[in-house]
Amino acid sequence: TTFQSLGLSPKLLDAVKAAGYDAPTPIQLKAIPPVLEGRDVMGLAQTGTGKTAAFGLPLIHQLMHRHDKRVPKTARALVLAPTRELVNQIADNLALYVKGTHMKVVTVVGGVSINRQANALAKGTDILVATPGRLIDLMDRGDVRLDAATFLVLDEADHMLDMGFIHALRRIAPKLGHPRQTMLFSATMPKDMEEIAGAYLHNPVRVQV
Ligand code: AMP
Repeated sequence: TTFQSLGLSPKLLDAVKAAGYDAPTPIQLKAIPPVLEGRDVMGLAQTGTGKTAAFGLPLIHQLMHRHDKRVPKTARALVLAPTRELVNQIADNLALYVKGTHMKVVTVVGGVSINRQANALAKGTDILVATPGRLIDLMDRGDVRLDAATFLVLDEADHMLDMGFIHALRRIAPKLGHPRQTMLFSATMPKDMEEIAGAYLHNPVRVQV
């Protein structure tokens, strides 16, 4: 199976080619079609399997084709990940995939100037990639709007559990737009994760590699 046959837009196929990807990985084969259809997806997958493209490509495809009424300059998609390193890695990959579109990817992580991040957000973003703690700090300052974000990705969700993830989600999720498409990726599915999936995902397609 090829990337072409998955129904991704030509611009994304160019980006995939430029990234040097010859064929989709198993998680991409399984996750891209349901995400393109608008379904919520729960993916059991480790990092290194290509899951950033598995959610990123169909997410960007939908952002390219959907012209929803939006609050100018505010995020249309939110990706949450546990660490600064992972956030930067995800954003670097997404930056490759949005080439050829006019979309902007902005990161929000702890340990760097919050003012600088607030300024970056004010300039506009399409995809916001964040650690939960710093995102909440920015929310508390009134520096981030999420009401135009109708896509939510929870990446390495199991690694976010021990950093107050459930509490953070309770704060963040109500601020997002409606209707929302949610994708959760985790290497393990402890009981807490099933509860999160039950609370924040709607009739998810389960994929596993
Ligand atoms: P990830 O699991 O998303 O962190 O991806 C791991 C690495 O695999 C990243 O460096 C990606 O750029 C790369 N990658 C993702 N999808 C493919 C693919 N279909 N073919 C080759 N490399 C890929």
